[in-house]
Amino acid sequence: MTADLKPQNDLLSATGTTVFTVMSALAVQHGAVNLGQGFPDYDGPADVVRAAADALLDGRNQYPPLTGVPELRQAVADANRRFYRLEVDPAAEVVVTSGATEAITACLMAVLNPGDECVLIEPLYDTYLPVVRMLGAVPRLVRLTPPKWELPRAELAAAFGPKTKAILLNTPMNPAGKVFTAAELAFIADLVQRHGAYAVCDEVYEHLTFDGWRHIPLMTLPGMRERCMRIGSAGKTFSLTGWKVGYVTCDRSLAPNVAKAHQLLTFTTPPNLQRAVAVGLAKGDDYFAGLSADLQAKRDRLAAGLAALGFGVLPSQGSYFVTTDFRPLGFAGDDVAFCRHLTEVAKVTAIPVSAFYAGPDAPTHYARFAFCKGEAVLEEALRRLADWKAGRQQARAAG
Ligand code: PMP
Ligand code: GLN
Repeated sequence: MTADLKPQNDLLSATGTTVFTVMSALAVQHGAVNLGQGFPDYDGPADVVRAAADALLDGRNQYPPLTGVPELRQAVADANRRFYRLEVDPAAEVVVTSGATEAITACLMAVLNPGDECVLIEPLYDTYLPVVRMLGAVPRLVRLTPPKWELPRAELAAAFGPKTKAILLNTPMNPAGKVFTAAELAFIADLVQRHGAYAVCDEVYEHLTFDGWRHIPLMTLPGMRERCMRIGSAGKTFSLTGWKVGYVTCDRSLAPNVAKAHQLLTFTTPPNLQRAVAVGLAKGDDYFAGLSADLQAKRDRLAAGLAALGFGVLPSQGSYFVTTDFRPLGFAGDDVAFCRHLTEVAKVTAIPVSAFYAGPDAPTHYARFAFCKGEAVLEEALRRLADWKAGRQQARAAG
């Protein structure tokens, strides 16, 4: 340690390595089946991957336009019309980013000034809070009520005030698997409008909904088009999470600031991947229906298996995740201890849901499992959990 060095950035120094990286490393260390970090263990559609490979070979490998290659901006606009009847100008109302992660930061940068308040809903994705704080804005946290993840309307209304600049809304929601209803969205839209505020809409799981649940973008509600920045992710829509291609759809009045934030953060996003994502977004309805149907079957398999083992399984209407209440299994310890124990002893990894909370008194009895895995992997995880449970029962009987 050099004594005369001044402290580095306080907020970053206080931010830990993401729970997803920590748990994935632990899974590798213990040879565990990784149902923690949300990434499919299968590849995305072959024609999309092929399009990316081909695009590398035809000489368009220099900086693409700041807001994205024209093909992808057009494809994003077309997808907005096709899925949500949103009319969008591809030249002025779409900004392509390096993943939804960058898009979230860029959208927050576009509207927040130091001292502004930003409403966030717990449980929340791990980048939201540190980024809001890095921008000098003040988070106002509102907590959904498990196990049904209801929106406490009075508390949400109380979180809005004269200083509210934005709300960050994630639907379908990670980790809760909640899809916000039309009535909840109307309530949020009313608050946003009454406070002259904006909404950053993290909709990365827009195409991953189950049991007839439909994703409704907040941007489609009356009066919300000019206020919303709607974020999609090719990683989720095409099961290619390593690609990190995101896209923001927003009004032409907001797009310039989003683009300038992108200019400061990364400037551009790899052109071959953008062109391949354009091919993906143009795929037929059968692709999108198949994507959610496949995931629904995986959810059903994992949820049924976990329930049979005694976990309390919370409903999952969308996303890659199912949340479980592990109290019925009689484990003495909190969710962090449980997920660590499960990784080390059962050799199956899950994510402690308290990692998605910032405020005090987070629930500590939930573990999140990702079901975006091949059938054999899900079966193996359930088999290991069954062995682990049997071992515990034997130990109890013996001891
Ligand atoms: N938002 C949510 C809610 C997520 O779960 C994720 C997970 N990857 C992201 C954003 C980031 O998406 P991307 O990989 O496109 O950056
Ligand atoms: N979104 C993924 C999850 O929730 C992880 C992304 C990441 O590792 N940053 O598991």
